[in-house]
Amino acid sequence: MLKIIVTLMLGAFSLPALASLNILACEPEWGALASELGGDRVTVYNATSAMQDPHHIQARPSLLARARNADLLACTGAELETGWLPILLRQSGNAKIQPGKAGYFEAASYVPKLEIPVRLDRAEGDVHATGNPHIQTDPRNIAVVADALAKRLSQLDPANTAHYQARHKAFADKWQAAIQRWEKQAAPLKGIPVVVQHKAFPYLSRWLGLREVAALEPKPGVEPSSSHLSEVLAQLARQPVKMVLRAAYQDGRSSEWLAERAKIHAVTLPFTVGGSERAQDLFGLFDDTIQKLLTAAQ
Ligand SMILES: [Zn+2]
Repeated sequence: MLKIIVTLMLGAFSLPALASLNILACEPEWGALASELGGDRVTVYNATSAMQDPHHIQARPSLLARARNADLLACTGAELETGWLPILLRQSGNAKIQPGKAGYFEAASYVPKLEIPVRLDRAEGDVHATGNPHIQTDPRNIAVVADALAKRLSQLDPANTAHYQARHKAFADKWQAAIQRWEKQAAPLKGIPVVVQHKAFPYLSRWLGLREVAALEPKPGVEPSSSHLSEVLAQLARQPVKMVLRAAYQDGRSSEWLAERAKIHAVTLPFTVGGSERAQDLFGLFDDTIQKLLTAAQ
């Protein structure tokens, strides 16, 4: 009998080491990146969807269960999740994923940030001390984060280092080729003036050379008011733009209001993986973003 048990146990141990790491991603772009780099050695769960505002979510009990079991938390950081992540981390009781631990990964800490405030005043809205957190709209940032995340996967799961390195190399090569393709396609967008609903796209604008002339939110995270919308409309009479941009999760009413009156396009960008039908992975995210911008710019 004992011999049978020992044999069974040895059998269990000789199984291939699949799905070694449980990863909880705060936003779908980091979940998608973890899947690209980890393949079948990781199990990924996203805390938010493309249709949710990542600044503000309700931490559901199912999310808490995922946080308890996670080996790695992959989030944007830069204060994007301050409204919900600290509570989730505290309630999870999971020592592995607390700030400062190897199981805590902040994507934004690896890239230089835009819009770092000179003066921090919460009366100015959702202003983040470390700069604008929406770094995923520039694919060059994703390349930098991929590098750091691949290293972190190896650190947490050294037995699969060769696997993570090989997947990272394959992804990085394909990604660099895609960036060149996107930059070529997006060349006509350079210098195009746009309005944004939320300050969600400074990295995208800098990458493609879009010129942001106004935001519909009077302050970041503050809903557009009718008086502020009227001001933006008046501004556009003097300073015409081609389009108004919003993220898939945002309410479209203020964008549509402006677009109708200013006779411009209201463009819904996927913003992250899952934000549109074509944005089913990171490549689709940028394919679709550039396609939508080009269509509106014509
Ligand atoms: Zn924001």
